[in-house]
Amino acid sequence: MNTKHYEMLIVGAGLSGLTAAAYLSLANYSTLVLEKTPTYGGLVNSFSQDGYVFDAGARAIENSGIIKPMLKELDIEMELLESPISIGVESEITQLNSNESIDHYRQALETLYPDNVADVRKIFRVINKVYKEMDVIYGFENPVFKNFRNDRTYLFKELLPWFGRFLLAVSRMERMNEPIETYLRKLSTNQSLNDIIDQHFFKQTPTFFALGYFYVYLDYLYPKGGTGQFPKKLAQKVLENGGEIQVNTKVMKVHPAKKMVQDSNGQNYTYDKLLWCCDLKSLYQSLDTTGLETSVIKSISEQSEKLFTHRGGDSVFSLFLGVDQPPQEFAKITSGHLFYTPSRQGLGETHLSELKTLLAKGQNASKKEIKAWVETYCNLSTYEISIPSLRDKNLSPEGKTGLIISFLFEYDLVRLVHDAGWYDEFKLLVEENMIKTLDRTLFNGLLEEPKLQFSFSPLSIENQFGNSEGGITGWTLEQPSPVVNKLKKIASSVKTAIPDIFQCGQWAYSPAGIPTAILTGWYAADAICAGRKTEQKKQ
Ligand SMILES: Cc1cc2nc3c(=O)[nH]c(=O)nc-3n(C[C@H](O)[C@H](O)[C@H](O)COP(=O)(O)OP(=O)(O)OC[C@H]3O[C@@H](n4cnc5c(N)ncnc54)[C@H](O)[C@@H]3O)c2cc1C
Repeated sequence: MNTKHYEMLIVGAGLSGLTAAAYLSLANYSTLVLEKTPTYGGLVNSFSQDGYVFDAGARAIENSGIIKPMLKELDIEMELLESPISIGVESEITQLNSNESIDHYRQALETLYPDNVADVRKIFRVINKVYKEMDVIYGFENPVFKNFRNDRTYLFKELLPWFGRFLLAVSRMERMNEPIETYLRKLSTNQSLNDIIDQHFFKQTPTFFALGYFYVYLDYLYPKGGTGQFPKKLAQKVLENGGEIQVNTKVMKVHPAKKMVQDSNGQNYTYDKLLWCCDLKSLYQSLDTTGLETSVIKSISEQSEKLFTHRGGDSVFSLFLGVDQPPQEFAKITSGHLFYTPSRQGLGETHLSELKTLLAKGQNASKKEIKAWVETYCNLSTYEISIPSLRDKNLSPEGKTGLIISFLFEYDLVRLVHDAGWYDEFKLLVEENMIKTLDRTLFNGLLEEPKLQFSFSPLSIENQFGNSEGGITGWTLEQPSPVVNKLKKIASSVKTAIPDIFQCGQWAYSPAGIPTAILTGWYAADAICAGRKTEQKKQ
């Protein structure tokens, strides 16, 4: 096979890779995106089955002052539907559609915890404070997507005054970086109340990031046709700009001294710049450092050591259901996107110490013990429930409803069960317990006898996308982070110690998610374009 040459080679067609590709192809660089799976979008993708459209990854997209301005700048048209969030505990369901409705949620918690009204109020005072800071950070259209050089009015009247407030807000938020679990303990000694707040979030989530979700909940949008429309539109833009995207192509080897990569079919590609937009461990695993300077090899091995002592962060178990009930029946209970906890008791020790004990037993943990843990976990955990057809009625067959039901789930437990040889049975067990719990507490028989039922586990995410431990937003949030983790330094997160190789996406910056995947994609493209201009001037 002949070696192919591209100025820009991008590995991974998730949102970060596609964003970078859209900007690099727009700048007229010959650009190729290589993607290991048969489609694009990575952790943001939709698929159809039996007439239902399901979102396999993120269930909605937060604007964050990023999505709309980026679409505008790239001249991409995408219809964005409202996507109101509901939060519920037991029979108290609150729809969040304005700042005031956060107060309704506070009242619901006061009803559920009448002995802790003062604590609830303390917690909500902090939530309101964080909300205001988030409004500064995310409520302004991100200026990176605006060409303001010739717009002095915007520069002096809008951007500069905002930028001062932005820096202050970011500084204040960065000081609230204590894990949410320990922070809440200072506000209330009622573990159940604290659980109900913090079990929505990943383990050790910094307080500002966790409580900032009350702002994010009001900022969610749903692309008409499903979340997968977003990467689809970005990919169309790449192709329109003359870029190429090649699916079913996994990059296996990277040879920086030769500026060459090899894919799973043995095809070689040379590049001017390489941009790695997926799990970073796989980049360092596939590196051939032959021919590099000793100092570079040393920096690479230092970074590699940092990465390999860290793990991918929390993962999810997702259940997909199709039921013979019209969406209107579900609309009586919730909006199309709900975070629901069936019991005010909270996960407490179940999640942490009992799970740790099980995992420590390894293959000696009995099926019976694991089944009992799963049952309790399903009764007490917090669920994310998405009903696409409540946002876009075309996403399920007439008179039927598709649901995506998920919760955070421990990768190590799934791995243990897989290695013990009863993975399929386990998946079914989790599915059945999820259905039983929600049918009893929330849906009142609507989930009985689903016509379509299947699930994806953390292991499915690891296998499909190559994400360490099935991490859905990159690294664990334990400190120190192996990558840049300060918003003010996000621009530098895209650089690597490897010559002509950049990185972006959820493994390049932490804490991550859709907004930072996109921002790092933009910063990587920007850094590459700026660097190329400087190189060209020197020549
Ligand atoms: C269930 C779920 C819910 C979520 N909810 C939210 C949410 O509400 N808000 C939020 O902000 N974020 C959410 N996220 C996280 C968000 O979707 C991700 O952080 C973001 O999409 C990551 O984009 P990325 O481009 O960095 O990586 P990815 O989407 O992981 O893309 C990487 C791509 O690279 C490909 N790849 C990997 N290895 C190779 C290789 N060797 N060669 C070629 N290709 C390769 C993968 O197949 C993949 O397509 C959620 C994720 C999931 C799964």
